Amino acid sequence: MAIPFIPLPYPYDGLEPQLEAEILILHHNKHLKKYVDSVNSILEKYPEFEDYTLEELILLNLTLPEEIQEAVWNNAGGVYNHNFYFGIMGKCDKKQPEGNLLKAMEEAFGSFEEFKKAFSMKAAGVFGSGYTWLVTDEAGKLSIINTPNQDTVLPLPFTPILLIDVWEHAYYLQYKNVRADYIKNWFDIICWDVVEKKYMF
Ligand code: MN
Repeated sequence: MAIPFIPLPYPYDGLEPQLEAEILILHHNKHLKKYVDSVNSILEKYPEFEDYTLEELILLNLTLPEEIQEAVWNNAGGVYNHNFYFGIMGKCDKKQPEGNLLKAMEEAFGSFEEFKKAFSMKAAGVFGSGYTWLVTDEAGKLSIINTPNQDTVLPLPFTPILLIDVWEHAYYLQYKNVRADYIKNWFDIICWDVVEKKYMF
């Protein structure tokens, strides 16, 4: 049972003009595909772990043979993070969350606009390659955290709600070095209906 290469839930030009097709083709069909192929080619040589899910490959990483731990961590993390990121985007009607997620944002940050500001600043501040997450703890309290490289939040006591990829490959072809513009426009291609379902309070 190999780790699947999940198709985008929209066409490659489906997020234009905020994200050009050229970026999405490279990002999904080259970068993500490489992570998927790498995990699967490692596991081919270790069939005893072939039934591990993506989450297990990350959470049980230290139980894997030492010689493949780092490669599995990075590549399985790359698959998990990209599946999450591509999965919460889309051209959807709703411009901001509603219901309990909106309430939780207002509690944690003051308002949706203040949340956007805080999230954008955190994402602008990722040094090098990594991600910015909106996460919830077990009580439903939201916070914003950064992770480097292809680390995930799975080992942390949080459930991920929202994720932006700020590796340069996510925006450089279109936005060059102006990450702030990518982050600003990215808020217009979030599918809040999908994101709300991840906040189960
Ligand atoms: Mn990426």
